[in-house]
This record gives sequence, structure tokens and C-alpha cells, in this order.
Amino acid sequence: MSPGLVIVANRLPVEVDTASPRRSSAGGLVSALSSVATTGTQWVGYAGSNAVEGPLDCDGLRIQPVSIDDADFEQYYQGFSNTVLWPLFHGRLQPVELNRAWWHAYRTVNARFADAVAEATPLGGTAWVHDYHLLLAPALIRSRRPDLRIGLFLHIPFPSACIFSTLPWRQEIVEGMLGADVIGFQVTQDVENFAAAAERCAGVRFSSGRLRFGSHVVDIDEFPISIDFSVWNELGARATTRGWAHRRDVGADTIFLGVDRLDYTKGILQRLTAFGELLDEGQLEPETCTFVQIGVPTRCDVPAYRRERDCIEMLTGQINARHRRENGSEPIIFMQAAFEADELAAWYTAADVLVVTSLADGMNLVAKEFVAARGTRGASVILSEFAGAAAGLHGALIVNPYDIEAIKQAMLHALRMPEHARQERLRAMRATVQHHDVHHWARQFLCRLQGGQVGTFPTQPVNPAQHGPDVGVR
Ligand code: UDP
Repeated sequence: MSPGLVIVANRLPVEVDTASPRRSSAGGLVSALSSVATTGTQWVGYAGSNAVEGPLDCDGLRIQPVSIDDADFEQYYQGFSNTVLWPLFHGRLQPVELNRAWWHAYRTVNARFADAVAEATPLGGTAWVHDYHLLLAPALIRSRRPDLRIGLFLHIPFPSACIFSTLPWRQEIVEGMLGADVIGFQVTQDVENFAAAAERCAGVRFSSGRLRFGSHVVDIDEFPISIDFSVWNELGARATTRGWAHRRDVGADTIFLGVDRLDYTKGILQRLTAFGELLDEGQLEPETCTFVQIGVPTRCDVPAYRRERDCIEMLTGQINARHRRENGSEPIIFMQAAFEADELAAWYTAADVLVVTSLADGMNLVAKEFVAARGTRGASVILSEFAGAAAGLHGALIVNPYDIEAIKQAMLHALRMPEHARQERLRAMRATVQHHDVHHWARQFLCRLQGGQVGTFPTQPVNPAQHGPDVGVR
């Protein structure tokens, strides 16, 4: 998009363990940045312990691998990033272990990234830093290269100032982030939480979306991330036949679908509990209703993740044992696997209701992919009010995921809704995602960072008159 742009993220978009680097299978961040990571863009990231030395060229991208000592990486990544910042920023306090060695490794690794950026970025260029792994990097980059424009985008929620302030290293983290010229968050609540934390921890004054920190002004705003609508629309269209085949194989009239990493923030237990209770109460019929839960194994080295997976397996086993069908099949299908996008699209087209009950979630791209892949076939989305997607996807059935009764009501409501209402809601959601796609997101952020004009994301329903009040669900 612009000469001199350097993207800075923990992960690289390529595998560089051989002399000829290959594009890796697109994760969320990599695909989100595809529209700006064009020819001439540089990408600074960790390349793994067996990586070859950089810089390397791959599909027009200039790759700058950051080499990090194995012990430091373990403590920075599994330790501070995923066992302190991830649960804390999602408001899940119980698993937080405030380990000081991890913090030191986090500082060391952030400094390594800053060194790499300072070396790679041309005079007057732009460095765009991503996510919670690199919160100290903006200030470290600024101290090395005051000539650069520095952006930071946080893909996960920012916690309330009360929760954030429990972190012994709160001031250093806030000041690290404030090294950026533009800080982007997913939703307004995150902006407000960060502004409150910055006022409390760094003694700054936030006003009209800006604050002054040292000698520079920091612009802070919401930039809700999205998906490539046309890609998912096309994937959905191509997957229709396989979607029908899945419906036949499942052998149910109604398919509820969950698609998540096996993460304790996703509320998988809550939605399966709701489904199980509806079966127990006879409100759903096990012979005709199936819940398909795709669970992508993730962070398996972290005990809280293993516990979550064990609890989901146990609950699934109990519900299936109580409601086994006459032909021996079971009402919950729990698949622990990572599917490619085309197979995921087949499940999106097969399902009737997508159930997203995250306890906290930066955005939840699955909800947006689902509506893009559906074409014009009506479908419902049950969506946690604590997922960033809830702020824009008007037409979804919004629930408090801690309220099992509300999830049950929403599931029944989705089933009983007339087809024309289902289609109307889907149409509204598709229009939003189509207009506010990932390219729009990337352009908005870079435009702001590089001094251009931006618009705003709609906070009102696309057409509120078309959506009557929901029964029992917000
Ligand atoms: N995903 C995938 N294979 C799967 C399940 C999910 O590639 O089997 C992708 C999905 O397409 C989506 C991402 O994983 O782009 C999940 O993003 P989301 O924002 O919903 O949650 P996150 O995992 O980032 O917390």
C-alpha cells in the first residue's frame, strides 16, 4: 500500500525453515493483512528456532526474521503473552500467574523486535505493530527511530482499568503502547478501558480521541477488524454440495454449529450445557437436532487449556450418553481438528444456527465468515454480547454467555423464527460485513496512521426497522 511499510507481528506469514520460504497457511492476522502486505512491504516476525538467516524474499514480501533464544521465546510467548496477558486481557483472572521471569523475557524479546524494526525500516517509514505479544515495542521503536510513524493494533480486548491495574508492570506496558502514534482497538469499550488505564497508570489526559504523551500526540480509536467478504462468499458458494453431504451424513433436521479454538475464553461449555438442558427438558429432540462443535487444538502446553478440553470432552460424553439415538449416533459431534477454509465453508453452509458464546473475544471472525459464506440461504447467528462482532452484526441474536437460560431461549428462538425473518437478518449482517471488510479495516488504519482521512464504523443497525425485538434475548 505504501512504500516503507513494515508490519511487525509475533508470527511471520511464511515458513522460513528452508532456504526457499513458503507462504504458511493463512492465520487470521496474516489473511487480515494480505491487502496491505503487498510488494515492497517488509514483515518483521519470529521465524522459529530452526529458521534460516534473513532477510528473505517471498512473493514480493521482504521477510526479516527476528532470532530469539529458545528459553527467552518460551517465557515470552507461552509464559508472559499467553499465561499472563491473554487471560488478564480477557478478564479471566484465575489462570493468571504473575511470573517475573516471564516478564523479563517479554521485555527482552520486545527489545529484539524493536532492534529488527529499527534496522529494517527506511527513513520516514511506517511500522505497524500487532497484538499483545508486542505491547512494549512501540516505545522501544520510537526511542531507536523517532523518524518513523508507529501504529499499534490490539486484536484482543483491553480489560477494565481495575483489572489491568492489578498487573505489577502496568505502567511500563501502558507507556510501551503510548510510544505509538495511532493505537487501534476492536470496539469502543476497549478504547475507553485503555484511556482510563492510561490516565491512571501514566498520568495522561485523554480527550476527543487523543492524548499527549511526552513530545507526541497519540490517536486512539476503534478499528473493528473483519474478513475478506468476497473470498468467504465464494468459498461458501463452492462448498454448497459438500455442505448438503454433511447434512445427510449428520442425519439431523437442525444443525447448531460452534467453531472455535479450544480456548477457555470461548464459552464452549456454556453453549453445550444449554444444548444438553434443552434435550433433557424435551424442548429439543435428539433424533432431529445435532450440535457440531469444531474445536481447534491450541496452546496445549498450558494447563488451563488442557483442563478446558478435558471438561468439554467430559460434558459431551455425558450429554451423548443420556441422549444416544436409536441408530446409535449421538447428538453432539465434537471434532478436535483444524480445518482448511474450504472445509470450514462446507460446515458453514451445512449449519442452521451458528452459536458464538465467547466469555470475552476481541472480534470473533468466525461469525463474519459464517454470514459471508451463507449466500442467500437464511441462517441464524447467536452471538455473545462480549464478542467484538456484536457491536456491528445487527441481526444476530445477542446473548449474555454466562446466562444459560438466555442461550437456551436464543436457540429455541432461532429454530422457531419464520424463514423470511431469518433471511432478513442474514441480509443485514451480510451487507455490514461486505461493506466493512478486511480491506476497509486495513485502509482505515493505515490512512489514519499515515495522515489521511477516515470514516467511522456504523454503531447503528443497518436497518433497525427491519428487526423486531427478540424474545428473551438481547
Ligand atoms: N479456523 C480455521 N480452521 C478451523 C477453525 C477455525 O482456519 O478449523 C479459523 C477461522 O476461519 C477464523 C479463525 O480460525 O479465521 C478464528 O478466528 P476468531 O476471530 O473467530 O477467533 P480467534 O481464534 O482469533 O480467537
